[in-house]
Amino acid sequence: MNPNFLQTPIAYLKGVGPNRADVLKAELDIETYRDLLHLFPNRYLDRTSYYKINQLQPSGADMQVVGKIIHLKMVEQKRGKRLVATFVDETGQMELVWFRGHKWIKESLKINEPYVVFGRVSQYGSTFSIPHPEMELLHKHQQGLKIAMQPIYPSTEKLSASGITNRVVSKMVQQLLLESKGYFPESLSKDMLEELRLIPKAEALFNIHFPKNQELLARAQFRLKFEELFFVQMQLISKKMLRKQKIKGLPFENVGENFTTFFEKHLPFELTEAQKRVIKEIRNDMGSNAQMNRLLQGDVGSGKTIVALMCMLLAIDNGFQACLMAPTEILATQHYNGLKELLVNMDIKIALLTGSTKKSERTLLHNQLENGNLNILVGTHAVLEDKVQFRNLGLAIVDEQHRFGVAQRSKLWHKNDIPPHVLVMTATPIPRTLAMSLYGDLDVSVIDELPPGRKPVTTVHRFDNNRLKVFGFLKEEIKKGRQVYIVYPLIQESEAMDYKDLMDGYESIARDFPQPEYQISIVHGQMKPADKDYEMERFVKGETQIMVATTVIEVGVNVPNASMMIIESAERFGLSQLHQLRGRVGRGAEQSFCILMTGHKLSEDAKTRLQTMTSTNDGFEIAEVDLKLRGPGDLMGTQQSGLLTLKIADIVKDNQILQTARYHALQLLKNDPKLEKEENAPVLRAFTRMMAQKTIWNYIS
Ligand code: ADP
Ligand code: MG
Repeated sequence: MNPNFLQTPIAYLKGVGPNRADVLKAELDIETYRDLLHLFPNRYLDRTSYYKINQLQPSGADMQVVGKIIHLKMVEQKRGKRLVATFVDETGQMELVWFRGHKWIKESLKINEPYVVFGRVSQYGSTFSIPHPEMELLHKHQQGLKIAMQPIYPSTEKLSASGITNRVVSKMVQQLLLESKGYFPESLSKDMLEELRLIPKAEALFNIHFPKNQELLARAQFRLKFEELFFVQMQLISKKMLRKQKIKGLPFENVGENFTTFFEKHLPFELTEAQKRVIKEIRNDMGSNAQMNRLLQGDVGSGKTIVALMCMLLAIDNGFQACLMAPTEILATQHYNGLKELLVNMDIKIALLTGSTKKSERTLLHNQLENGNLNILVGTHAVLEDKVQFRNLGLAIVDEQHRFGVAQRSKLWHKNDIPPHVLVMTATPIPRTLAMSLYGDLDVSVIDELPPGRKPVTTVHRFDNNRLKVFGFLKEEIKKGRQVYIVYPLIQESEAMDYKDLMDGYESIARDFPQPEYQISIVHGQMKPADKDYEMERFVKGETQIMVATTVIEVGVNVPNASMMIIESAERFGLSQLHQLRGRVGRGAEQSFCILMTGHKLSEDAKTRLQTMTSTNDGFEIAEVDLKLRGPGDLMGTQQSGLLTLKIADIVKDNQILQTARYHALQLLKNDPKLEKEENAPVLRAFTRMMAQKTIWNYIS
């Protein structure tokens, strides 16, 4: 067999040809034999089970029943004629219905002979029926070599319109399997096959398309899911190993004066154990010779900022500069102010660079950065501009990672000859095991503890018609001196409408909370940055009690006196977004509240989201639910979505297999990093080919 057999262009397969090849390429991205082979069925019609009539369910699934026709009649209605057969078995009776082809069908059907009928079951009143069933006489059915389980392949409208029906695709795959003569080289080692009791590759491929029975199908699926996840892990892990060996890092050997002084004299609170542990992990990383590429996860309010600062001090102690990037101007400004305050008694130069930094300041800042007079630069995307040149950037920290794309991160990377250490901080918790597997080539640190004394935010769900009551409660809180956020959704697709909602909301709030007793701020994305800052500033200073805003306040804003948040149209927000928003309150000593407002019409998913929010404050728990509701694509943020399009495995459902695959990939690469051992030859061959063809997705970085 030609080893490049699977590389053959699909047009050469019998029954395909250039026209169909074009459609296959356009619709399913199938170009070669291999691609077709890896077009796995979505589901199977199980022709191995038979149902009794009294077991039927109108589930929309195809079912198979054995019985006899006892009666045939034509029924005439306004909408047209139909042929109805009364079909019975020993448990009951049902109907078979035909709307077309009456004459021919009527003539060919035999009364009182055992048939196997097959089709989609529906229910009218108390009667089950199958429209246009597949019919076969029982004795023929028993003789026939029917494939037990029929594969149903992914399809599109264009495909079926071009005549490439499921039957045709199924034929193509059969033809391919026939031509292949079962020559599908093994891609896993013998040891692995034995240890995990996996079926051989060829057997798995046959059975994934044309399973002999349920058990073999399950084994084929397991084998192929394992293999897929295994090679993804192989890539992630080997990439990480390579990075650790090859990419030299800047060794931060000293724990110097700044770090120590700050730790001993200026730390405003005792660090939590989790913060200490994480700082140690980062210190170890930056102290080694390899470049750090670390993800720091910590729920909202867990105290990531102070960790970031202490790491930056380490960089400075070793003679380097550091930068901290935030996704919004508000957040960057807030970081800048916060850090400046923490560093007030220390000899450290820190500056802020955002889109609205004035030109004159900018020029000065560029100079200071280049001659090394500036130790820390805090900023937004503006930091990434080419004009911004560091003298010696040693550490780049990215806050709220989900707003930054991969490209942007690698831009930071390229600002030096030797790349700076990179710390990415995120408050979107990803279940830890999953995080390691997804960001397999990043190291992960987790702050899994909140500073002491935090009271969980009390969260409730209220319907819109209770607004007056809610406002009453709000007034009481304001009387006690607290501040309030009222948040409106802003979804890009319906931006204009959303702005209208926001403005209408603002006006009605302004009526209910009249001046001068109440002062209201408003902040949204269409405002000029300077106006936004001004309003934000008023709220931070306590000059206004109510902040009406869109999700621009989602990340990072810290106003400890704000103890209440109302989220309007809460059903329109995703879970992680709701959790982020809620994280804006509960930052002070007071009991905080979050009120989720919705109308009465709610989808099941929305109900689950609201219920989750009202029952827990735990970000990791919320992340688990979010993952189940939305899948991992969204979890990574929109930039990364789509990268996880695995062919057969599902990162959430198959998490167990993923863990196993990761374990085996780690073992293998530990014992045989270059895959030189004879027994690993199959893995090496498959892995080399995949890397060359980039069939493994490039996840992150
Ligand atoms: P996040 O992880 O959401 O960025 P921050 O760094 O903004 O959290 O911290 C939230 C608040 O908790 C800040 O006001 C910060 O000063 C405070 N904080 C952080 N660490 C501690 C600690 N160990 N003890 C007490 N307060 C802390
Ligand atoms: Mg933060």
